[in-house]
Amino acid sequence: TRTSRPQRILKAVQTKATVGDPQSVITAIDHFCRHREWAMNVGDEKGSILDSVVNEVSPVTVLELGTYCGYSTVRIARLLPPGACVITLEFNPDYAAIARQVIKWSGLEDKVQLVEGASGDWIPWMKEHFGVQAFDLVFLDHWKERYLPDTKLLEECGLIQKGTVLLADNVICPGTPDYLEYVRNSPHYNSQYYRSHLEYTKVEDGLEKSVFLGY
Ligand code: SAM
Ligand code: MG
Repeated sequence: TRTSRPQRILKAVQTKATVGDPQSVITAIDHFCRHREWAMNVGDEKGSILDSVVNEVSPVTVLELGTYCGYSTVRIARLLPPGACVITLEFNPDYAAIARQVIKWSGLEDKVQLVEGASGDWIPWMKEHFGVQAFDLVFLDHWKERYLPDTKLLEECGLIQKGTVLLADNVICPGTPDYLEYVRNSPHYNSQYYRSHLEYTKVEDGLEKSVFLGY
């Protein structure tokens, strides 16, 4: 039986990356996806923008929507200060199983809470289940039609507070027009586009960073 792409990505990590070295895990995945098989990781080019936003926000609590193989989870978690953590949501159990192993290989499992399930089901339980007050940073990278409803749900649940930064991937390709129109026109957000390219390609894509200003 043929292996899946996430299984092949894990294999690349296990053969090329050093246990406990997150940078080697990132490099192994980027190399595999650039030279062997394209995959939907945020990738190295947009990844460096993600890194700079994580460093600038210096978050204590991060929410990631869409884990896939854990590539961006590792990128984020490796930059977190002691005591900080990222909660990452993934509704595909096969992807979640791969991501757990990638995160473990990186040695970052103490900074990561991987939650299996759909964003719309989990967001209302974040406070109760994880004791989160609000998130400092939210990385939106799941299915594109969920960006806007999940942002509104996070607002309703009180998980976005003054200073919370939303960072949304793929706002051009595949694109998230309703979300962009919302954050760019809302008086409650200060929103900025970071032009880049779709992971492992030359096609234009970018990240939208939106700072919540309060009500
Ligand atoms: N953030 C990852 C990275 O850069 O390495 C890539 C995530 S991939 C683009 C999107 C993932 O979101 C897929 O694995 C998909 O199964 C998951 N997903 C899509 N909609 C979701 C939802 N509503 N709740 C939870 N996971 C979802
Ligand atoms: Mg993406």
